Amino acid sequence: MVTVLVSVVGIVFLTILFSAVFYEQTVEQTNEQLRIFMQVYATDYRDRAFSQETAESLKETLGGARVTFLSTDGQVYADTGAAGELESHFLREEVQEALNTGEGYAVRQSTTLRERLVYYCRAFSGEFTLEDGTAVQGGLVRISVPAASGLSIFAGVLPTLIWFLVVDVLCCLFVAWLATSYVLRPVEQLTQEAAHGNKEVQTRYAELAPIAKMMNDMNADLLEKVEKMKEDRRLEKLILNSMEHGIVIFRDPSDVILINKTARRLLDYETNEPIPCFTSDVEIKAILQGGENAALVRKIEGRYYSFRFTFDGNSRVLLITDVTEATEAAQSKNDFIANVTHEMNTPLTSIRGFAELIAAGAMPPEKLEGVAKTIMRQSDRLANLIRSIINFSAIDSDELPDYEVDLSELLQEIVPLFEPKIEQKSLHLALTAESGVRVWSRRERLLEIVNNLVSNGIRYNKEGGELRITLTGGECPRLCVADTGVGIAPADKARIFERFYTVDKSHNGAGGGFGLGLAIVRKLCRRAGWKLSVESELGKGTAFTIDFCAPPKKEDAKNTR
Ligand code: ADP
Repeated sequence: MVTVLVSVVGIVFLTILFSAVFYEQTVEQTNEQLRIFMQVYATDYRDRAFSQETAESLKETLGGARVTFLSTDGQVYADTGAAGELESHFLREEVQEALNTGEGYAVRQSTTLRERLVYYCRAFSGEFTLEDGTAVQGGLVRISVPAASGLSIFAGVLPTLIWFLVVDVLCCLFVAWLATSYVLRPVEQLTQEAAHGNKEVQTRYAELAPIAKMMNDMNADLLEKVEKMKEDRRLEKLILNSMEHGIVIFRDPSDVILINKTARRLLDYETNEPIPCFTSDVEIKAILQGGENAALVRKIEGRYYSFRFTFDGNSRVLLITDVTEATEAAQSKNDFIANVTHEMNTPLTSIRGFAELIAAGAMPPEKLEGVAKTIMRQSDRLANLIRSIINFSAIDSDELPDYEVDLSELLQEIVPLFEPKIEQKSLHLALTAESGVRVWSRRERLLEIVNNLVSNGIRYNKEGGELRITLTGGECPRLCVADTGVGIAPADKARIFERFYTVDKSHNGAGGGFGLGLAIVRKLCRRAGWKLSVESELGKGTAFTIDFCAPPKKEDAKNTR
């Protein structure tokens, strides 16, 4: 298209230029022609009268050129161009020039004929005879012919020009087609090949080989980057979806940019709908409207989750973290503090009350023995509580090495110590222990475990119930303490191993139960890698089992006792 336009403009410009040059040459030639015409006058008509007849005759000889005879003061004697009396031609350009230099030229619009003419005027000396026979000295002869204008020349060449233009446009189109076919088409093919598919771009034109190579290199680079991006995205997705934390990035409740699996589940979110709690939870709504970083805790499906909102410009981030353990531990701790305060206060108040009475001498001597026993019992309870707390926290810092402990022997030693309590409750004890069952641990730890399990087996047993203690050996020794007591409800079963958790708050401290016994047992088992399990049915009884399966530690192998 550009080629066509350039060549058309070029042709038109050249035509105008040639027309101008041609016009100049035409004027030159006309001048020359007029000089020859004047020569014809000078040779053949100089002797004839300066009359209209002579002028007409000369006009005919010259093939129709306009002839004017003038006096030296511009008066027209005869003119073949116009009939009748004519005004003085003294001021005409060619007349003035002829009067001054002997001959004059002019190309101008004829005021008489209203036509553009080329004039040539020459002054002659000597005598002239006019039509009426009078003789005058000197005269001017002017011969003029129509002048071709630049525009008329241009109009003359216009048909040729149009042909030229048509041929030019056709030529340009042909050249453009050739260029497209032989130069651009291979490039186009190359581009299409590069644009479609991942295969290598190839060309049979040596000139295009560097471009093809560059395209292939770029393509390979691009593919590598895309693959890397895909892999990064896959990994990001994997990380996000395998996170146990929930994460949501959003602009507003219905414009969620990113949400991982955990958050979807916890927030009950389906694609393309607002996140339910963002519109229904008043506190969350207030946080979203306030736009300030904030956190709150919500209970979902029985567990506690912290919702932490962070605002960063238009994007908002919600991080959901499971804080059940921390929340429940805090709750247990609070319960414990409340219980401990209560439990400590009760014995302390009674100890102090009795002591005051004794100090004031207000205690009858016969009651002194009973009061002293009460003070001792209350002191024991306080000591029990303190011992439990110390034991629990001591496990963490216990770095003493393990050694082989004969658990059968230990059971035979310790169980009889519980007999007074067993008898008190009229329990039936069944101790079945394989002999020589050895476990890698420390005596004091195993004592702690047996003590806690057997105490519980007695404490939570029914009057006249049964307490079975079974120890089996083999590769994986097993200790089972089972009772036919009150049992544990399924809801409590999951929590009895938590610190300070007690099922029935009312029996706290009665016999030293502060919810720390089983927590200590679980902590010791975990540290040693033993499996601790509980089977229980409410109202029927409970059985705690420990499988001592953990392999002995090499560095402790030499320690036995
Ligand atoms: P506690 O000192 O209060 O007994 P534990 O940690 O030993 O604390 O036990 C926690 C809770 O588990 C107890 O409060 C009790 O309700 C329950 N429990 C433990 N052992 C038994 C059992 N053998 N039978 C029934 N409930 C039990």
